[in-house]
Amino acid sequence: MQLPKKKTPKALKFNATFTYAPAPESKSHVKLQEQYGLFINGKFEKPNSGKYFETINPATEEKLAMVADANAKDVDKAVKAARTAYDKVWSKMPGKERAKYIFRISRMLQEKARELSVLETMDGGKPIRESRDIDIPLAANHFFYYAGWADKLDYAFPNQQPKSLGVAGQIIPWNFPLLMAAWKIAPALATGNTIVLKPAETTPLTALKLAEIIQESGLPEGVVNIITGAGATGAALVQHPGIDKIAFTGSTDVGKLIQRATAGTNKRLTLELGGKAANIIFEDAPLDQAVEGIINGIFFNQGHVCCAGSRLFVQESVYQKVIRKLKDRIETLIVGDPLDKNTDIGAINSKQQLDTIKKYISIGIKEGGEIHESSCAIPKKGFYCRPTLFTNVSQSHRIAREEIFGPVLAIQTFRTDDEVIEKANNTAYGLSAGVWTDKGSKIFNMTSKLRAGVIWANTFNKFDPTSPFGGYKESGFGREGGVQGLSAYLKSF
Ligand code: ADP
Repeated sequence: MQLPKKKTPKALKFNATFTYAPAPESKSHVKLQEQYGLFINGKFEKPNSGKYFETINPATEEKLAMVADANAKDVDKAVKAARTAYDKVWSKMPGKERAKYIFRISRMLQEKARELSVLETMDGGKPIRESRDIDIPLAANHFFYYAGWADKLDYAFPNQQPKSLGVAGQIIPWNFPLLMAAWKIAPALATGNTIVLKPAETTPLTALKLAEIIQESGLPEGVVNIITGAGATGAALVQHPGIDKIAFTGSTDVGKLIQRATAGTNKRLTLELGGKAANIIFEDAPLDQAVEGIINGIFFNQGHVCCAGSRLFVQESVYQKVIRKLKDRIETLIVGDPLDKNTDIGAINSKQQLDTIKKYISIGIKEGGEIHESSCAIPKKGFYCRPTLFTNVSQSHRIAREEIFGPVLAIQTFRTDDEVIEKANNTAYGLSAGVWTDKGSKIFNMTSKLRAGVIWANTFNKFDPTSPFGGYKESGFGREGGVQGLSAYLKSF
């Protein structure tokens, strides 16, 4: 029997121009107050200054809430509350009791994860996928992890009788607002310190929600105080004589100011500052996987990541292939409403940051870099930047040397291992790096020679509470995360 001839179907063409239906996350479960006070001694209080400033949604430029502007008197009140709580309660409490509170905070963060994720995205501009899948779960994990250490410090530091420092002043930036608060608060509590924390002025809302959670958790009054304000509030905290330790994450410039201000005092200091990470692709790397990693490394969170892979080094033999793949891939990235679950790149955190990124893009062009940006449409209102690649970049170009903190990738080439090691290390920073290769031996060779605190191999931007994070050179000193993160809050042995 002869079978009927099958009609050959017309080739299914991949249509790169299809659009996704909007899938915005609801804001209905976010409870926001019109105005927030300062969280001091377990209560929300009016600021001494009587002043408030607004925090906006960078995706829409709409006002979200008014937030108190703490002055030096407010800082003093918060530090005194933390000192009293340290002397009277927290330093005397056994580790296993402290652990219960820290566990409770972790559980409450998990319970409120949905509200916190949406709020993080509204206040900071990052895609909901990231706040939902990375920021908030990791923040809860940090509390969970450090709760486990609170009664085991003697095992972490055997024969050393670990002792807390006292009152910690903690200043955090706007790129991972709740996660940075967790990185700072959880180990400090586990080691028996009390806290005055200042979130960044553009993203204070999840820290204030955390204050509500802390209040609800029954943590003794004054153990954690959260005060809002801009640089002047941070400077007052740094200068306060009642502070035993400053933990700062932010720009290298402000880090240097803080280092100067604490020099000659008894204040302990840890700094997690800027970065200009090298992401290195060898010819034997699985290229598609590597390209995904490069995209994640620089466009994740709009490039608002101190460990962003903002310098790409591609081995010459695969250069054309990698560039083609990168250009194709950035065309498919969706830039827009951060609350939409399809969005890959959300809003730039502030107008000021968008101006900085634009300034660097024009510097890159002037210096002779060849620019390629995605042709995607971006919303008219709000602060947005298309994913941007620069080729024809040399080591001396400012876009290859200075931190841009935006979705801008500077691409260079190399031929040999030694050449790329020299180029990758030729930077003032040393926070992170990435290596993409099929060869284990090459990974070990590179990781032992690259001067960076964190080096990822065949992946990028992976974080875990158990692994220490921190930099070399102008990226700062001290480690957060893991057992190492505990010693930053303990007296030196
Ligand atoms: P970025 O440039 O990424 O905004 P900053 O270093 O300016 O980073 O800000 C990080 C944090 O440091 C924020 O909470 C900010 O308010 C605070 N800050 C800014 N200036 C100072 C200062 N002089 N002293 C202490 N903290 C400061």
